[in-house]
Amino acid sequence: MDSDGLERLWTPYRMAYISGQDRPPEGYDTPTGCPFCRAPSDGSEASLVVARGERVFVVLNRYPYNPGHLLVCLYRHVADYTDLDEAETAELAHLTQTAMRVIREVSGAHGFNIGMNQGAVAGAGIASHLHQHVVPRWGGDTNFMPVIGLTKVLPQVLRDTRDLLSKAWPNGA
Ligand SMILES: [Zn+2]
Repeated sequence: MDSDGLERLWTPYRMAYISGQDRPPEGYDTPTGCPFCRAPSDGSEASLVVARGERVFVVLNRYPYNPGHLLVCLYRHVADYTDLDEAETAELAHLTQTAMRVIREVSGAHGFNIGMNQGAVAGAGIASHLHQHVVPRWGGDTNFMPVIGLTKVLPQVLRDTRDLLSKAWPNGA
């Protein structure tokens, strides 16, 4: 089996994103099509926003690599890390720390992958709007949640996970 086949097997829900069936007609890279510009104002039940800061918000990744995979995003549609001002940089770091604390508290994660893909060439799916990944890791990783049938149950799982993290999120942080 090639590595792509393995990824498809273990993260079938990512295929909706990779195959582009969720892609808006105007593309992800314009502010109107950009999911990170739209997420904070999405008041629907399907909204996966976990916490809102002043300049930065935290949203559950709709196409997670692991349960609880969070994205720490600026409200501003800006691509490059060097374009952040001091306050944005500080809040991005602060909410990343809070995200780690909250995930540890609710799930006992053993470790994390944290970082930003800068540019499409570096693997950024939505390169025009900077977002920091916070991916919880567990030894073995696949024990945390049953993988079979995930495609069907994922929307509910995502909403439940969002509620869990949101409730554990400290006030004013
Ligand atoms: Zn955007």
